[in-house]
Amino acid sequence: MNKKIYFDNASTTKIDKRVLKKMFYYLNNNYGNYSSNNYIGLKIKKKIDKIKIKISKLLNCKKKEIIFTSGATEANNLAIKGFAFSNEKKKNFLTFNIEHKSVLNTYKKIESFGHKVFYLKAEKNGIYNVKKIKNKIKNIKIDMISILWVNNEIGVIQNVKKIGKICKNNKILLHIDGTQALGKINIDLLKNNIDFFTASAHKIHGPQGIGFLYKKKKIKMCSEIQGGGQEMNLRSGTLATHQIIGLGKAIEISIREIKKNNKKIKKISKFLVKNLIKIEDTKINGSLKNRIPHNINISFGSVEGESLMLKMNNISLSSGSACNSSSLEPSYVLKNIGVPIYRIHNSIRISLGKYNSIKEAKYFINKIKKSLKELRKISPLWDMYKNGISIKKFSNEI
Ligand code: PMP
Repeated sequence: MNKKIYFDNASTTKIDKRVLKKMFYYLNNNYGNYSSNNYIGLKIKKKIDKIKIKISKLLNCKKKEIIFTSGATEANNLAIKGFAFSNEKKKNFLTFNIEHKSVLNTYKKIESFGHKVFYLKAEKNGIYNVKKIKNKIKNIKIDMISILWVNNEIGVIQNVKKIGKICKNNKILLHIDGTQALGKINIDLLKNNIDFFTASAHKIHGPQGIGFLYKKKKIKMCSEIQGGGQEMNLRSGTLATHQIIGLGKAIEISIREIKKNNKKIKKISKFLVKNLIKIEDTKINGSLKNRIPHNINISFGSVEGESLMLKMNNISLSSGSACNSSSLEPSYVLKNIGVPIYRIHNSIRISLGKYNSIKEAKYFINKIKKSLKELRKISPLWDMYKNGISIKKFSNEI
């Protein structure tokens, strides 16, 4: 069976045909510039403004609080740097050690300009302990906290509502990376006291290269890109009409169909987990309780995740995070929640989406069982495991 299966939806998703149709229409017929005061430019302006209104209604914010960017990486950069450099004052930031690189590396950058960043440790299940936040802010005046709503590697959901309340009560700005949350869990920016929120279209069956930053209106910030003053002077550059059309449609569809998609994905996920955990020496990484059903991060003892992926090369999976896998470095997310190094190398990430099916899951289970059997047959580590010799004894990296 030469079947192609896509189980890497946390990396990117297949574009929805309804999104593509809309984008194509604008690419083909409506090439106007949002900033031009001519007939076609004004038509585009009206359309893009309508999309902003639609997004703001769906997320419970104001139209003027949405700023289009090239994706969530840029939006996270803009939120952090835009606030850090909004005035001369050096600021204090708080985040966790399993955030996305677009947050952690931006923080690294602003630290070199004299801002202070405090990194808290996530718990072993990937959850952020709210008490740790409370303790930190008791002793130090924090200006902004950055939290990933849903983790991209382990799918764990953070308690944004609780953290939002703490931030509001202590006059701390809350920056939420919502890239893996949008379209999967219900989002209300106002109710959760969120000040900055970032997301990307390509994670919700929209096009790559477009996302947005929500910034609460009253907050002062500076721009990262200087130019013609588009996007309220916060992100200059000609607005990419067809991309924005695609983003708007993708958000609309993903929120409208959230219940239906989650129900389907939950069923596939349950089936996969039930069968995968029956495989000997297998462990799921991260909390199973506070997790989106779309994500299964799992380690199979004695087998390299990379070898498993090669063996099943008709199935798109991820070993660690896609953003890291080119370097083959063990995932810092798994490392920071205390997964032993040898277990990290054993891990793969299965990330499900609305186009997956139970039929694919059944095929996957058969294929992975067969592949594991073959790989374990030639693995000296598996021999050791079967003879009751713990690999921990031989690993000094634990
Ligand atoms: N944050 C999270 C949680 C992500 O998963 C990603 C994508 N891997 C990003 C930010 C960056 O998104 P983009 O690809 O739109 O730059």
